[in-house]
Amino acid sequence: MFNIVVFGAPGSGKGTQSSRLIDRYGIHHISTGEVLREHIKKGTELGLTADKYISKGQLIPDDLMISILSDVLDTNPAAAKGVIFDGFPRTIPQAVALNEMLEKRGSSLDAVIGLEVEDEELIERMLNRGKETGRADDTPETISNRLKVYHSQTQPLRDFYLNEGKYHAIPGSGSVDHIFSLIADILDSIKK
Ligand code: AMP
Repeated sequence: MFNIVVFGAPGSGKGTQSSRLIDRYGIHHISTGEVLREHIKKGTELGLTADKYISKGQLIPDDLMISILSDVLDTNPAAAKGVIFDGFPRTIPQAVALNEMLEKRGSSLDAVIGLEVEDEELIERMLNRGKETGRADDTPETISNRLKVYHSQTQPLRDFYLNEGKYHAIPGSGSVDHIFSLIADILDSIKK
C-alpha cells in the first residue's frame, strides 16, 4: 500500500477526508492531534504538557512531537503496511524526520495531499466545529493563533514537498464527496 500525508490548514478537512480514505483503502490512520487529545483526556504527563501548547494554538515542540510519532509507529504493527498521516508533519524538521523514520523502516512517503482552503472559510468551519463538538481549541482567539502558526511554520512544507515532486494540490472547498473523488483519482494512479 502507500504512505500519504493529508496536509492543510486547521479546518481544511484533513480529518474528514482521512476517514473516507480509511474506508476506501483500509490503511492505518495516525492523527497526531487525536493522539494528543487522548493523552489530555487520560490526564497523562504528556497530556498535561500538550495541553499547554494546544490551548494556546501553538505547536508541540518538534523533538517531543517526533518522538511521540516514532513511538506510535513502533507500537502499531499495522503501520508497516502504510499510513495516512493526518496533522504531521507541521514543520520542516518534522518533514525531514518523517522521511528518516520511514526510510529506517524500509519505506518512503508516496504522496502529499494538500487541501487548499481560504482563511475565511477555515475560520467559519472551525467556529462551527467548536459549537457542534465543543472542541476546546476551536475558539476565536485560538483559531486566529493556529492560522498564524500554520502560515508561518506549516505552509512552507508546500514548497518542500513540491520540490520532492510529491505535493498534489486539491481545492478543499465544495462537497466532501467531490473533494474525496479528486483525492481518490490521484491515489488510484499511484497505488502500488
Ligand atoms: P489537529 O487536530 O491536527 O488540528 O491538532 C490540534 C493541535 O495539536 C495543534 O493545534 C497543535 O497544538 C497540536 N499538534 C498536532 N499535531 C502536531 C504536530 N505535528 N506538531 C506540533 N503540534 C501538533
